[in-house]
Amino acid sequence: TSSPLPDTSVDARSAAAFARAQQVTPGGVNSPVRAFLSVGGTPRFIARASGPYLYDVDGNELVDLICSWGPMLLGHAHPEVIGAVAEAASHGTSYGAPTTAEVELAAEIIDRTPVEQVRLVNSGTEATMSVLRLARGITGRDKVVKFAGCYHGHVDALLAAAGSGVATLAIPGSPGVTEATTADTLVLPYNDRAAVREAFAAYGDQIACLFTEAAAGNMGVVPPGVEDGVGFNRFLADLCHEHGALFVSDEVMTGFRVSRSGQFGLDGVTPDLMTFGKVMGGGFPAAAFGGRAELMQSLAPVGGVYQAGTLSGNPVASTAGLTTLRLATDAVYAHVDRAAARLQAEVATALGAAGVPHVIQAAGNLFSVFFVPEGVTSVPDYATASSQDTAAYAAFFHAMLDSGVYLPPSAYEGWFLSAAHDDRALDRVVSALPRASAAAAA
Ligand code: PLP
Repeated sequence: TSSPLPDTSVDARSAAAFARAQQVTPGGVNSPVRAFLSVGGTPRFIARASGPYLYDVDGNELVDLICSWGPMLLGHAHPEVIGAVAEAASHGTSYGAPTTAEVELAAEIIDRTPVEQVRLVNSGTEATMSVLRLARGITGRDKVVKFAGCYHGHVDALLAAAGSGVATLAIPGSPGVTEATTADTLVLPYNDRAAVREAFAAYGDQIACLFTEAAAGNMGVVPPGVEDGVGFNRFLADLCHEHGALFVSDEVMTGFRVSRSGQFGLDGVTPDLMTFGKVMGGGFPAAAFGGRAELMQSLAPVGGVYQAGTLSGNPVASTAGLTTLRLATDAVYAHVDRAAARLQAEVATALGAAGVPHVIQAAGNLFSVFFVPEGVTSVPDYATASSQDTAAYAAFFHAMLDSGVYLPPSAYEGWFLSAAHDDRALDRVVSALPRASAAAAA
């Protein structure tokens, strides 16, 4: 396919906006990855978006392969979502009292996933933070296991780095996170069953819960491995239950995206507790956590574990999420799956032709491209993901951006597609690949 490539390298207005932004907010952004630090250059300031396209303040049209880091499964400004949101907003934007919209959204989540009850919150971070408290409250235990390279939001106890040995408690992952806060966190290598067994052997009766991304998507995409026919999530769930710990699956990124339910729809492992976000908010701040009713009943106001929120279950956000989920039909998932398969094949062809070593990995329709050294054939964990040539990725990224394709500004992120990514948009991406691959090879 060949469609003419636009020149979208003009960024004078974005540069001016960024200079002003840096005066008023640290780094000019409200979430670090947006600052383009790992690829260099000027972040594009976005003026509007429609379907698969972002339009920046310089008037460039960019095919969006981030989709707001996951939420925009239907594409941007879907008319039915916008219509429902406008209607909801016209009735008032927040009441601090229950509404039927939030009940409908909860019911839709329960219909799609193995959870029996949910509590709505405002961000994925809040969901994981609350689930951690709930798991500790239910079990009366303190310790939590997580995996290096899995991101669960900026919850202090989960912003932890691996200690020096496998069964060593973690060290703070950011200034401001105290040693006391991470003293109950164990950080293990993803997909490493021996390490998980060792940690449970050492601390099994103290572990409240194990957190995992249902499929890791924040170190690039690293799916749960299968050994002797047993998937990593199955292994984790079984080991947790042997030791009386709760198995927590974080589906904030994968939920309602990689299938109608999420990674659960691909591997069928039922967690004790789950977290959701992104797609279920339809582009608004909404997230959720849920699980078996018997566990969720430990939450206030029924149980003793406190959790609350002024804007939780917000009527406009709930309407956006509910409308999005209702429009996310099997046909939507089939389309996104096909588009993802096509792009993966085209990226492999282009990078291969340019002689750029790489590995492409996927969890359903969520995939990423690792610029790992020659000879690396799979990326099972964070240590391997960290062997990437980030300079090659930066060159690839900027060549794509200058040809009208907006990739994640980091080599450690997934590529997100939507139901709105039609042939015109995908053809633009495909046409841009040879030049970008040559740039990565240089
Ligand atoms: N969990 C996972 C798996 C995520 O990917 C993210 C965000 O990227 C979060 C939690 C945190 O969600 P939020 O950014 O809404 O706080």
